[in-house]
Amino acid sequence: MGWAIALHGGAGDIPKDLPPERRKPREATLRRCLEIGVAALKAHKSALDVVELVVRELENCPHFNAGRGSVLTTDGTVEMEASIMDGKTKNCGAVSGLTTVVNAISLARLVMEKTPHIYLAFDGAEAFAREQGVETVDSSHFITPENIERLKQAREANRVQIDYTQPIKKAPKIAPVPEGDQIGTVGCVAIDTQGNLATATSTGGLVNKMVGRIGDTPIIGTGTYANHLCAVSATGKGESIIRATVGRDVAALMEYKGLSLEDAAAYVVEEGAPKGTVGLVAVSATGEVTMPYNTTGMFRACATEAGHTELGIWSSESNE
Ligand code: ASP
Repeated sequence: MGWAIALHGGAGDIPKDLPPERRKPREATLRRCLEIGVAALKAHKSALDVVELVVRELENCPHFNAGRGSVLTTDGTVEMEASIMDGKTKNCGAVSGLTTVVNAISLARLVMEKTPHIYLAFDGAEAFAREQGVETVDSSHFITPENIERLKQAREANRVQIDYTQPIKKAPKIAPVPEGDQIGTVGCVAIDTQGNLATATSTGGLVNKMVGRIGDTPIIGTGTYANHLCAVSATGKGESIIRATVGRDVAALMEYKGLSLEDAAAYVVEEGAPKGTVGLVAVSATGEVTMPYNTTGMFRACATEAGHTELGIWSSESNE
């Protein structure tokens, strides 16, 4: 048993020939965030504190699609969303439609802890952020030149997508929404030295998404879910993850069918959602960790007190 942690930086159609200048900074960030999480767990921080801490770090990194680095809506704006859940109490908090909040995940935690509600969005969420005095900045802070270019190309191709590992290739006039082309969201799950489970997920959503679109990330039971048995953070095509109720289904298979975490997560990823649409990281109350995906890859990392450490993007590479 003991502590365990897993984190992701998005699942999708990640080309195996991803250039080093796009791969290495992301791997370095995953490694650094894993180290931060492990150190916090070793220092007996709660799982809730650890997942928030790690996701804040990932939000602050422009290489991932959350916080700074969030992808843009059809109007060229950012609308960030996040949620967090405590497995023991099932307390949870979620936010959507943020345009100025530096760390959406911390606002989600404040919704959980300081309001009678679970989910605040758009103007109400922004007003709550101001009331709570969390750090806010001008929206332009979140908009990177890469994301302006991605939006331009997605508009030209008339498609909605997440793809920030490579420049989007010019597509024929009206291209279908590519099924496996989503990556970017960040998430973290952990079990602490007291046996408490928690999960946190944060995203900018999809490139060229409609203004007002809400994905799976802030919807408890889909992109984010934790209870006394497991903690799950999913990534991929939000609409598919919502239809498959990914997070809750993993927990339900464990609860009602007695499946192990690994079997439950593998079943949901393989049978629950269309191929090319989902990946997840999860930990269980018994210290199991699993990171399955049905896309070509997922930026991911994990570590356990028992000594297992892994960092990877595709299936065949880098276990350390
Ligand atoms: N699931 C996110 C969304 O659809 C995107 C992602 O995971 O990269 O908003």
